[in-house]
Amino acid sequence: MRRITFIALYDEYCLGVRYMSSILQHEGHHVDIVLFKNVACIRNDDVPSLHLQEEGGYYSMATYASPREVKLLLDVLKNQDPHLIGLSFSSISFGLAKFLTEKIKEIFDVPVIWGGVDTTVNAKENIQYADMVCIGEGEYPIRALVNAMDQNKDITVIPSIWVKENGHLRQNPLMPLEQNLDNYPFPDYEKENKTVIYKDKILDAFYPPDTHLITNYMVMAARGCPFSCTYCCSGHYRKIYKGDRFLRRRSADNVIAELAYCKKNWPWPLERIELYDDVLPVDGEWIAEFSPKYAATIGLPFFGYTHPNVGEPENLRMLKEAGISYLIMGVQSGSQRVLNQYYNRRHTKERTIQTARNILEADIKLLCDFIGYNPLIQEDDNVETLDLICDIPKPWGIIKFNPMAFYDKYRLTEIAQREGIMDQLERPKGVHAWQAKITPEMVFWEYILTLGHFEGFTKEKMMDLVNDHYLRDNPTVLQKIVASLYRATYLDSNPVVNKELYLRDMQRRLQQIEDSLLFRAYRKVKSLVA
Ligand code: SF4
Repeated sequence: MRRITFIALYDEYCLGVRYMSSILQHEGHHVDIVLFKNVACIRNDDVPSLHLQEEGGYYSMATYASPREVKLLLDVLKNQDPHLIGLSFSSISFGLAKFLTEKIKEIFDVPVIWGGVDTTVNAKENIQYADMVCIGEGEYPIRALVNAMDQNKDITVIPSIWVKENGHLRQNPLMPLEQNLDNYPFPDYEKENKTVIYKDKILDAFYPPDTHLITNYMVMAARGCPFSCTYCCSGHYRKIYKGDRFLRRRSADNVIAELAYCKKNWPWPLERIELYDDVLPVDGEWIAEFSPKYAATIGLPFFGYTHPNVGEPENLRMLKEAGISYLIMGVQSGSQRVLNQYYNRRHTKERTIQTARNILEADIKLLCDFIGYNPLIQEDDNVETLDLICDIPKPWGIIKFNPMAFYDKYRLTEIAQREGIMDQLERPKGVHAWQAKITPEMVFWEYILTLGHFEGFTKEKMMDLVNDHYLRDNPTVLQKIVASLYRATYLDSNPVVNKELYLRDMQRRLQQIEDSLLFRAYRKVKSLVA
């Protein structure tokens, strides 16, 4: 029996780690999972400013480890005494992963393996910092590796695992994808083996405090995506697993069984299920089987994701009957040029509007994602996106205006090189991707486009704002208007807004008003007058 510790950086979801943990435990191994902070902490303003940064810590654009947090992690590892340490992280935490691995290697003579999307894409670079890397889906490769360690067998020949051996790199071929996802055990959400390191403390909890996963349970019914956008890892996975069926779906019964187990055993009252399939309403036959079973057995509100080309009314009707409350649609752009030439997305404006209408007519709330901060986008493209935003029937919400990330080896980055815009991108410290050098123009367009989706902002009114030179030079004015509108239009049960944080923020603002000199003076005058 081996002891394995997985460290998930800034990712309390870490579904890959949770699946690997389950599969190893089924083999009789002991697994610990350390949640090193969480997704909500990935923020520039969460990282201490330069004069507060301490020696012995690591600080990058949006993630960091203070010296105290490093010590806590090393102490945890000493206690757990693992035979293998696994690090799982996304590209934004690449520098942090390097730093923590160095610290671990200074003390422990234990192999360290890296895995996840960033490592799969950048395997040759990442193996310089770890002893091994796992490419692609990790459940069976990690099982084969740990069993080989346990049985004293050769660990340098495991498919999907690359190993450094006497100064040479052994690049083993990929293990084929598991085609029957029901063969995997349910992911490990048990309480016992989790440690949370969060803001200089070890918490007595199995989730960090500011995560909506306390009330929401995340599940994936499918792996893979029918589409292949140029900025997404899906295209890379499709390429490396060429020959394997990439889009696979669990049986409805298997998903329901996982949810029933979780509903019975979750330590808090569950409010919502998060269905993280890349495109949920795509398979009518599966939905027809899943929906009535879900409604009868689970009966909790849930949300999922879709694409503008996927929204058949019948599938939406069945999902509504099952209890879906939201669909999040990745629209990304309204510019046909950007969608077709740069993103490999084949949806028209008409199709996007029709899908939005289908969703709203099925009485499902609609949230959309857009992408900005991309130097490939020109003025006309933004105007076309604004046109689309104004024409999508209201009400709906913009979940996020994502800054484009240009990841190494993704097709979009090759396009950026071909189009000669690399000088308009920068590579933040510790991040394994390029992003735009932000211009006032980009900020202006984020807030113009966001403003366009609120009720009452017609196309004509929006074009007046687009042509306002003062706003172009001072986009923070728009930013403040948008922030106020968001606060004023908070939708209860919106899965992307943490209700507790929202209420705390409102209370803080109220307190600020009550504490202000002006308000106190007003109260005094009022009491005198009364
Ligand atoms: S639809 Fe979404 S998940 Fe699928 S390839 Fe495009 S961005 Fe990736």
